[in-house]
Amino acid sequence: MTREHTKQIRVGRVAVGGGAPVSVQSMCSTRTSDAEATLAQIRRLAAEGCDIIRVAVPDGAAADAMERICAESPLPVVADIHFDYRLALRCAEAGAAKIRINPGNIGGAEHVRLVAEACGARGIPIRIGINAGSLEKRLLEQYGAPTAQALVESAADHAALLERFGFTDICLSLKASSVPLTLAAYRLAAQRFPYPLHLGVTEAGTPLQGTVRSAMGIGAALLDGIGDTIRVSLTADPAEEVRAGIAILRAAGLRGGPQVVSCPTCGRTQIDLIAAANEVERRLAGCGRDITVAVMGCVVNGPGEAREADYGLAGGKGEAVLFRRGEIVRKVPEPGMVDALMALIEEDKER
Ligand code: SF4
Repeated sequence: MTREHTKQIRVGRVAVGGGAPVSVQSMCSTRTSDAEATLAQIRRLAAEGCDIIRVAVPDGAAADAMERICAESPLPVVADIHFDYRLALRCAEAGAAKIRINPGNIGGAEHVRLVAEACGARGIPIRIGINAGSLEKRLLEQYGAPTAQALVESAADHAALLERFGFTDICLSLKASSVPLTLAAYRLAAQRFPYPLHLGVTEAGTPLQGTVRSAMGIGAALLDGIGDTIRVSLTADPAEEVRAGIAILRAAGLRGGPQVVSCPTCGRTQIDLIAAANEVERRLAGCGRDITVAVMGCVVNGPGEAREADYGLAGGKGEAVLFRRGEIVRKVPEPGMVDALMALIEEDKER
């Protein structure tokens, strides 16, 4: 089922599935019991463009802090809970916008019923988070390894537990650290379930490796029309996850905003192009316009190669030309060329 056709759930004010814009999630790295530090991190991630935030609730102290966190957070808060259904009940009461559990590990049908009722009464969806690393023994024996089919069967079993109590406000994730396995599982899940899918490659790694692996796994699914909300998992500041998530959505053509394209430089480059490209990217970060800005090393190829760009700069010797949709606008000296490019972009905005 492609993203237009899944069931839609609401995570606080953010719609997920049913054709809603694909949202970006991250997870706090603070101790949830420290509400002050957690809220500070959530505000920082909201400023980076994060749509939904998840926090770990491993104990009573974390659950104690949830009421304040949920009340003051600028983003809908997802409570991540393992094993203890009472923590899920407390988080539902504290104002969590979604609960992430595995109904199979919170202690029997009666506990699942209590959590489903508490969430159902408040309109709180539940994400079933299947992970290749913690697959049920029965499925491992049946399939011999955590295969895509095994992950999907696990999701089906967990979903059935909730459905038994009339609860269908469900979102699913099926994560593995192997990109091909993750993608195969999501493709199978999309054929089988009507529920929205939370995409992610788990334990993806440090920023470069993790971003590449996530861009492949999440990106490939998104290009297939699969996936309704994404989380890039990185061993890094969660702000990096948000930036990577937004970049993946933009690359897949699923989120607007500025795109900076730049050439790789070569023997023709006579300006400090790397610094210029980084500065343009930084200065456009808060720009909400759907524009493509090219930063190119030379006039010989630059404006032509970047003809599709709305604005651009191409370096010469000690100077640069500014162009707009392939047409040269003016020459500017190299010092201050980025200022001049930004001024050109601003000028058009004011027209
Ligand atoms: Fe080289 Fe010019 Fe192409 Fe940049 S745009 S890679 S400087 S030929």
